This record gives sequence, C-alpha cells and structure tokens, in this order.
Amino acid sequence: MEKLLLGKIAVVTGAGRGIGRTIALKLADEGANLVLNYRSSEKETEELIKEIEAKGVKAISVKADVSKFEEAEEIMKKAKAEFGKVDILVNNAGITRDGLAMRMKEKDFDDVINVNLKGAFNCIRHASPMMFRNKGGKIINISSVVGIVGNPGQINYCAAKAGILGMTKSLAKELGSRGITVNAIAPGFIKTDMSDELSDKQKEAILGTVPLKRAGEVDDVANAVVFLASDLASYITGQVIQVDGGMVM
Ligand code: NAP
Repeated sequence: MEKLLLGKIAVVTGAGRGIGRTIALKLADEGANLVLNYRSSEKETEELIKEIEAKGVKAISVKADVSKFEEAEEIMKKAKAEFGKVDILVNNAGITRDGLAMRMKEKDFDDVINVNLKGAFNCIRHASPMMFRNKGGKIINISSVVGIVGNPGQINYCAAKAGILGMTKSLAKELGSRGITVNAIAPGFIKTDMSDELSDKQKEAILGTVPLKRAGEVDDVANAVVFLASDLASYITGQVIQVDGGMVM
C-alpha cells in the first residue's frame, strides 16, 4: 500500500519523548519528513533523528520553548529553511502542575496555560500563514478528555485543554476555505511520564471508568494523528476525536 504522507513536512512539538515521540515515528513510517521540537530532551531527540532517518525520510530538531512567541517562530523558520513549507502541525507539547484551586500558585496556573494553550497558539500563528499560502495543511491539537469533563486538582490543565477545543473549532472555521483542516485529539489515560506521576490508587480509580479496561498506549494516540494528518481525513475538520477507551461518552 502506498504511504499516506509521502513527501509531507510535519512539525511535532514536544517530540523527544512520550506521545510526541511516537507520533513522530508513525508520521515518518508513512513517509513524512519531520521537524522535531524539544525543550529539554536533547539527547532523546538526537536519538530519535537517527531512528527516523533509518526509515528513509529526513528529520531536523529545533530546541524551543513553545510558550515563547519568538521561539515558536524559530521552529517554523527552521522548517521553512530546511524543507520550504509545513504541511502538518501537531501541537503536542504539554505540562501539568496539579493542585486544588484554593491553594494553586499563580505561576502554576500561568505555566500550564502558557505551554498547553498559548504554546499551541504560538505555533499555529507562525505555521498557518505558510499553510494559507500553500492552500492546504493539517493542524492537529492534542487536548485531553479532562478538557471536556473537568477534573478536580487540574483547573489550570482543564482550562488549557478546553481552550484548545475552542481554538480548534474557531480555526477550522477561519481556515476551511483554504483547504486547511484543524482537529483535536482528546486522549484519556495514556501510559507516559505524565500519567506516571499519578498514585497507584488514582490510576486504579481511572481505569475503573474505562470500558476497554486498559490504559491507552502512545500508539493509540499516534494512530489517530496519522489518520487526521492524511487525506483519509480530508473532509473532517473542527472535530474532537477521543482516544480514551470509552472513558468519556
Ligand atoms: P510527557 O511524557 O510528560 O511529555 C511532555 C512533552 O512535552 C515532552 O516532550 C516535553 O519536552 C514537551 N514540552 C513540555 N513543555 C514544553 C515547552 N514549553 N516547549 C516545548 N515542549 C515542551 O507527556 P505526554 O503524556 O507525552 O503528553 C503529550 C501530550 O498529550 C500533552 O499535551 C498532554 O497534555 C497530552 N495528554 C496526555 C495524556 C496522558 O495520559 N499521558 C492524557 C491526555 C492528554 P521536553 O522533554 O523536551 O522538555
């Protein structure tokens, strides 16, 4: 079967580890060339470049904190300099700083909004003009099911992830006439460093709410990204795909 993303240029934020790493590998499997953003996982990202290039596609890395407007611009400038365009943008970078609202530090609120929500805006702001000129593109924003249903102890994170859903739908309406699709993925409980911060008791409680009775794998999320990034999904925009084993419905 022909590869789904042959010759496409994909930017993945927070690509050094976790879900972002597997997204990058799966996009490469389908023939995409990769721009891998990382903030601190430099060694892991250099390893990832080797793994990706062994698949016969090109990859470069860009160190940038997506919460910084100019650094996000640098990612897209390097993508343009190396590959001439951006076809696919996956806004995956994210952090949590959990705590109850009445005790939450202002910095923990700001940091989570700045990375998860503003970071996605910053990348969209600098990638979308290129897509607009090229009359095509796929933007995929990684939200979370807690952005839909809320979660105690995560008002900052839930606000950011809900914000991503509003941004996704508005942008889908702004960019649709140029053939650009904008969708969100809302993962449930996926096994990564981020979810590993939960206690065993918390993990057990979450799994009790999952009809498929297992935690999600990074591949489960990455497969949905590949679908949305491909022309198989060319008539899908402004949507939220939950990859959560049925946790929220
Ligand atoms: P993770 O293992 O903690 O990895 C987080 C990634 O985000 C890392 O690659 C990190 O880069 C990057 N990152 C953090 N701050 C950044 C910044 N300021 N600029 C650039 N990159 C930054 O998390 P994950 O589980 O893979 O999560 C990936 C995405 O899925 C996040 O948006 C998360 O909210 C979402 N999600 C995860 C789950 C889950 O259960 N795991 C559920 C729902 C949604 P460095 O390592 O280079 O710093």
